[in-house]
Amino acid sequence: MSLWKVLDGSRAAEGLANQVASGEVAHAWLLLGPTGSGKRPAAVAMAAALNCRVEPGRGCGECSSCLRIGRRRHPDVHHIVPEGPLIPVDMIRDTVIPEANRSPFEGDRKVFIVEEAERMNPAAQNSLLKTLEEPQPDTVFILISDREEELLDTIRSRCRVVRMEPVPEERIVQFLAKEGAQPEVALLCARLAEGDLERARILAFGDDAMERRRVWTSIPRRLTSPLDAQDASAEIVEQARAAVKAFEQLQKPEIEELAEALGEKRGTAQARNALQKRHKRELRRLEEEVLGEALQALGAFYRDVLAARVGGEEGITNLDLLDEIRDWAASDIPDMGFVTAIERCVEARAALLKNANPSLQIEATLVQLTALVPPQAKVGAI
Ligand SMILES: [Zn+2]
Repeated sequence: MSLWKVLDGSRAAEGLANQVASGEVAHAWLLLGPTGSGKRPAAVAMAAALNCRVEPGRGCGECSSCLRIGRRRHPDVHHIVPEGPLIPVDMIRDTVIPEANRSPFEGDRKVFIVEEAERMNPAAQNSLLKTLEEPQPDTVFILISDREEELLDTIRSRCRVVRMEPVPEERIVQFLAKEGAQPEVALLCARLAEGDLERARILAFGDDAMERRRVWTSIPRRLTSPLDAQDASAEIVEQARAAVKAFEQLQKPEIEELAEALGEKRGTAQARNALQKRHKRELRRLEEEVLGEALQALGAFYRDVLAARVGGEEGITNLDLLDEIRDWAASDIPDMGFVTAIERCVEARAALLKNANPSLQIEATLVQLTALVPPQAKVGAI
């Protein structure tokens, strides 16, 4: 399956695929758009199309080159991701720029995918300007960002800008139904994924993601005291740990492959260290993601209650919890209580990204959410 497939229904991605297929490849691209609009899968699909052995320009998704690019294990496709809150200037100056000046190792193009490009501080952005302007002919930069305003004009003006949009809900529903999801599951997952087709697929067909959500959406009705908040917070943190553990298992074959490829020769320590560092980074991001999703799920629940209260039920995300949402809407909790809860979830999520202590952050948030006393009908009923 071509790597563009997960972007079905995105007009921007279609345009991008056509430009790459026609050989009209700029040296620097900037993919903009909100979370879930497919910026990252589009960048990976571009990298595959540029290096595919079977269908050059399109990307077959099945040759060794496409497969390794999809798994982020191709020597010519580099993912630059923030270390902590920043992409530091030394990373650009000492690693990216020298590497960008070398020829591809085995592919046709060397591709640099700079994720969360706005996290390059101005010094880092400035250090990249010259390389973006006069790159090696076979080097392509793809910058990804959902915060256009934090990028320097000089960076933007050197890139071909593509604006991506979330995939419309009905397209996601169609896609999931075609892959075998029941209609109500397809609609629920499309709502929960907010325009992110890949996330919708994970929700519809992966057990772990839905099980995690089941726990998160049970939390509002369980929060009646600070002790409940501590328990629920411990559960969320434990879920993130379990997700990290499961992912560690998936990383193992890569460590074994590397050991096999390198043997015990001298000079292999560096490659091992680099892999270890990347794996650690991936695990940290995954933990951050799971915790962030928990907060998002809680915020979405309270948002649904507000929507139900003003009669906007057609916009409700948690379609399988309608009865409970209506009970909350009918309670005497003032609107402002829900608004504050939603804001608190958003703030806590932002704080997680800034490397705040995750357990404390989640616990403090849940303690605040105990201000919203669950409607009587539900207490003790579940
Ligand atoms: Zn291929």
